[in-house]
Amino acid sequence: MRKLFIKSFLLFFLFIPIINAQKPQKPSSAEIYNQIQKLNFLGTVLYIAAHPDDENTRLISYLANDVHARTGYLSLTRGDGGQNLIGSQLRELLGVIRTQELLEARKIDGGEQFFSRANDFGYSKNPEETLQIWDKDKVLADLVWVIRKFQPDVIINRFDHRSPGTTHGHHTSSAMLSMEGFDLANNPKAFPEQLKLEQPWQPKRVFFNTSWWFYGSKEKFDAADKTNLIGIPTGVYFPTLGKSNQEIAALSRSSHKSQGFGSTGARGTDTEYLEFLKGEPLQNKASIFEGIDTSWNRVKGGKPIGELVTKISNEYDFRNPSASIPNLVKAYSMIQALDENHWKSVKSEEIKKIIADCSGLFLEAVSTTQETTPGSTVKVNLEAINRSPVDIQLVSVTTLPEQKTTVLNTILKNNSLYNSSVEIQLPETINYTQPYWLKEKGTDGLYTVEDQKNIGIPDIIREVKVIFNVKINNIEIPFERIVVYKRNDEVKGEVYNFLDIVPEVTTTIQDKVLLFPNTKSKYVGITIKSGKNDIKGNLKLDLPKNWKVSPESIAFQLDKKGTEQTVYFEVTPPSQVSEVVAKSIATIDNVAYDKEQIIIHYDHITKQQVLKTSEVKCIRMDLKTNQEKIAYIMGAGDEVPQSLSQMGYKVTIVKPEEITPEKLENFDVVMTGIRAYNTVKALAYKQDILFDFVKNGKTMIVQYNTNGDLVTSKIAPYPLKLSNDRVTEENAEVRFLAPTNPALNYPNTINQNDFKGWKQEQGLYYPREFDKAFTPILSSNDKGEIAKEGALLIAPYGKGNYIYTGLSLFRELPEGVPGAYKLLSNLISTKPSVSVPNQKIKQ
Ligand SMILES: [Zn+2]
Repeated sequence: MRKLFIKSFLLFFLFIPIINAQKPQKPSSAEIYNQIQKLNFLGTVLYIAAHPDDENTRLISYLANDVHARTGYLSLTRGDGGQNLIGSQLRELLGVIRTQELLEARKIDGGEQFFSRANDFGYSKNPEETLQIWDKDKVLADLVWVIRKFQPDVIINRFDHRSPGTTHGHHTSSAMLSMEGFDLANNPKAFPEQLKLEQPWQPKRVFFNTSWWFYGSKEKFDAADKTNLIGIPTGVYFPTLGKSNQEIAALSRSSHKSQGFGSTGARGTDTEYLEFLKGEPLQNKASIFEGIDTSWNRVKGGKPIGELVTKISNEYDFRNPSASIPNLVKAYSMIQALDENHWKSVKSEEIKKIIADCSGLFLEAVSTTQETTPGSTVKVNLEAINRSPVDIQLVSVTTLPEQKTTVLNTILKNNSLYNSSVEIQLPETINYTQPYWLKEKGTDGLYTVEDQKNIGIPDIIREVKVIFNVKINNIEIPFERIVVYKRNDEVKGEVYNFLDIVPEVTTTIQDKVLLFPNTKSKYVGITIKSGKNDIKGNLKLDLPKNWKVSPESIAFQLDKKGTEQTVYFEVTPPSQVSEVVAKSIATIDNVAYDKEQIIIHYDHITKQQVLKTSEVKCIRMDLKTNQEKIAYIMGAGDEVPQSLSQMGYKVTIVKPEEITPEKLENFDVVMTGIRAYNTVKALAYKQDILFDFVKNGKTMIVQYNTNGDLVTSKIAPYPLKLSNDRVTEENAEVRFLAPTNPALNYPNTINQNDFKGWKQEQGLYYPREFDKAFTPILSSNDKGEIAKEGALLIAPYGKGNYIYTGLSLFRELPEGVPGAYKLLSNLISTKPSVSVPNQKIKQ
């Protein structure tokens, strides 16, 4: 009995995609018809790659919408290591954004989404490095787990497992692991601990989704022998949807906004190519499902269901979808009568959705508050309406997680609105809402996920739900809805979010790094936010004994939920060099709270709450600066200005339209943010002013830009060509090409130790060809590669200095890497006129 319960629990949580719809989907008659056709297809494809954006949305959309296959995308990582085009979130916070973007993409192309625990730790040039940092066995286990639970008939790799070194190491690794996983998933000796929850599964065959890109050019690919390839006609037009497959794919791809992958739809014939790799070979290349029964006959007792669904499909009335309800309900009850199996749970969810859509059944549970705390009671307004002539009875509602059922026995008459409300008592032990993969601290290469059942699940797991138990034609059908919160925005209209469970109190330390260049104390601001009404407690800033904090603790009192109060501690560093982490701890009634609430809010994704330990890195180092006045021009978004302020500089953010000779007169240095020349179009027209600024004796520091899509070809006063050169080994040895250059000597002496402790990468998109006016200062390279000399280039121009650096200062400074501060201070102070004090050059 217990086993049975576990089984049904798992079916519920494992096989069914948890799509947290931003807004309820309201499909048209044609879209419902598409779903009915899908109901009659029992075949599954899993597409495997490494990152959000690797997936081929043309193929996914074609398989989901034309073939009607269950189509999943397993992205091994959440894309944490990439660059963010729309804001300053990096690392795991960027992973949270990309996760949501992928979910939005799948809503458009009809696919389902999975992830492994692998962390996108940054660029890696070969699979050996990737698999070592990831922990190969664990990522392979996750891939096998997803195969066992999704049960694909066909696997498609985006990348070639046979060509390590030709692309990102994550890419090749995804294909190599897929090939291994294909062999292991059906082997009960492989990852046997998973078999307590899932059965072994053998996919039929695996393909490589090749394209001209892998051949070097379109011409080469056109000329290549394709006898070993199967062509997939992805250029289809869906007349009932009014869109071509490529148009749907482009809409899906455009969800990747943080990567700037807006895509324009194409029309007309198009072919995707698959190379057969392993499994049962195709005889006649007519379908990737050859030899697999994709009808209801593949399920024991499924034949009559298939016949009935075919009848429903043939008789479907586009003008009146509700005419299909009696047969749909009949098919639903036939599915319920099947023995427990994979397809039973998959198809139950599909047909329930179709029944609701055909009857215009709208069911919603809306919380009256967006945030609440464990142990609270939440008022939830219920809305239920049936827009069909079929009599529907709302029997009861069951609220989760408390599993309390309220009997309603109400008839939902055609187009007659039913409103009521329930109160949900949340347990004290309910989890705070947050991405489950960020709850525990992970390693550089892998997230920590304790519960095997959660692995693979794409989204935040939300526990507060309402099940509407509805009776149609005497058949009871439960419809589950996650409790949402919605409000009206004067500009955007209806805005949907979810109910979030928040801690009673959270604290945010205003800085993420506190830099102490000398023994002078600094004030640290901490903002306290209440998660509920009437909280009263004490706040402490916890630091090792050799650091001094005053006062020892600060009492706080907040009357209203959601209000904030900022308090200040004075921190005095020790006289010697020291690097420590200070934690902010609030205590209420002897319970300690140490979390910071981070809210990620963009229009294209639902609001995300991430909870991190509230802490600040405190660094006592000897840092010399000359107090220059800095104008900072933001690019794609970075936190360098905050770091400059920490170093003691006066920093002013100057908007591109404000760049005038008069405005710049007040500054000693102009610094451009990361990818400014990729994202700020106005800079193309301001270069003369900026170069004159340098000519007149000032300094300009340009941080990295990518080599594609520059807003001007003249980013420097001398010829300078960006390349793909990068040094991804963050602690690669750095050699000094110009050891006496002021950049390495004044006001701080730089030595090799200053390049230790860097994070993720050393630098990227280094110029490879540059004018002889530039002095290359540094040289380094990843293992086995030739030296790269474009990391830091300095050229005198007029009376000033132009500096170009691809060093990833934007990552190192917010991480509190001392060497990065010293080097940046030197770059700010470097001027041709500065004479280097006579000193021994340390190396
Ligand atoms: Zn990729």
